[in-house]
Amino acid sequence: MSSPIYLDYHATTPVDPRVLKQMLPWFSKSFGNPSSTHSVGSEASQAVKAASLQVAELCGAMIRPGVSHTVVFTSGATESINLGLKGYVQRHQPEGRPFKLGVMGLEHKAVLDSCKSLQQAGLAEIRPLQVDACGRLDLDDLKTACSEGLDLLVIMAANNEIGTLYPLAEIGKIAAEHQVAVFCDASQAAGKVPLDFENWGLTMLALTAHKFYGPKGTGALIVRKGTQLSAQIHGGGHQQGLRSGTLNVPGIVGLGEASALRKLEMGEDEVRIANLRDKLQTLLQAAIPGLIVNGAEEARLAGNLHISLPNTPNDALVAQVAKDLAFSTSSACTSGLEASSHVLCAVAMKPELQRGALRLSLGKQTTEAEVTRAAELLIAAYSRLQEKLAEKV
Ligand code: PLP
Repeated sequence: MSSPIYLDYHATTPVDPRVLKQMLPWFSKSFGNPSSTHSVGSEASQAVKAASLQVAELCGAMIRPGVSHTVVFTSGATESINLGLKGYVQRHQPEGRPFKLGVMGLEHKAVLDSCKSLQQAGLAEIRPLQVDACGRLDLDDLKTACSEGLDLLVIMAANNEIGTLYPLAEIGKIAAEHQVAVFCDASQAAGKVPLDFENWGLTMLALTAHKFYGPKGTGALIVRKGTQLSAQIHGGGHQQGLRSGTLNVPGIVGLGEASALRKLEMGEDEVRIANLRDKLQTLLQAAIPGLIVNGAEEARLAGNLHISLPNTPNDALVAQVAKDLAFSTSSACTSGLEASSHVLCAVAMKPELQRGALRLSLGKQTTEAEVTRAAELLIAAYSRLQEKLAEKV
């Protein structure tokens, strides 16, 4: 049986063979613990240092050549987000008033649930930030929120469902005018769009290797030099006490290599991916009247095509094509749950459009033949469903 066409690159990506090649020696040949003071350990600690510079370079977090803002390695973006948000809020509690977080309702659950847990612990209040139907942040509302007093602005770089990109240069400027610290979840944007941690004035940035052809289970939190955080994992005091635990050297080397490759190659790759995405969109739009493209069409991830098919329950459509196509009807992190997408709710999408929503996401390995075939399969399944529905009437 041949494998299905993979159109779920927002859920995860395959490890680039060049990344895997760099990782392999660190499992059993150069297996040292970076905390050990002997030569085997120092070989590993140098590899970790090199990876931290590669990650910082990808995110524009260099202070000067060879020196970057702090890169804390974690088990992925969920942990980076928990460390960044909880660690910052716990450390920066204001006197006599609650800490104020500005957050959009369409952030990833790792962000929303971290904020909620801080709220439930009585450590923070949440000021929801307004978005429009395409998921774009209302910058006037952001200005109002900042001028009313925010302690931390929480903003994703790109949405994981509808693909909308956020204008971080502009957002960073507004936050800086009001001296508001900024936490950015760049999980979907890192390695796909240029990031400029330093010049955007970000305080923290979270990312994860498996979204850009690196290994699962490895991520990082970049922290502006001088920013204090409370650790969330205690132990041997690794990584300046910010995240105890023996470092996952093969994973970190993989994250570093994936970062270096994306820095070099993403410009060209993402143009090709956007062209394929546009082709898929055009083919579907031509055959499916009333198809709606969700998200901000003019500012979205190159590989993102989030659509709503009119009068088509997405579970029925998935059932028709599941053996040939792998894609998502919601974000993979929550699609196991019997709940509608909180992102689609946050953009106030009508329930019938939510029911017909599909997230198709393309990546580096997607081919033109796959796009053509995927469109044929989706159009045929849509037509069969429409016939069935017509028979019922
Ligand atoms: N943030 C966003 C926007 C994501 O898309 C994801 C993964 O889907 C995460 C955070 C969590 O990443 P990880 O799987 O590395 O914990």
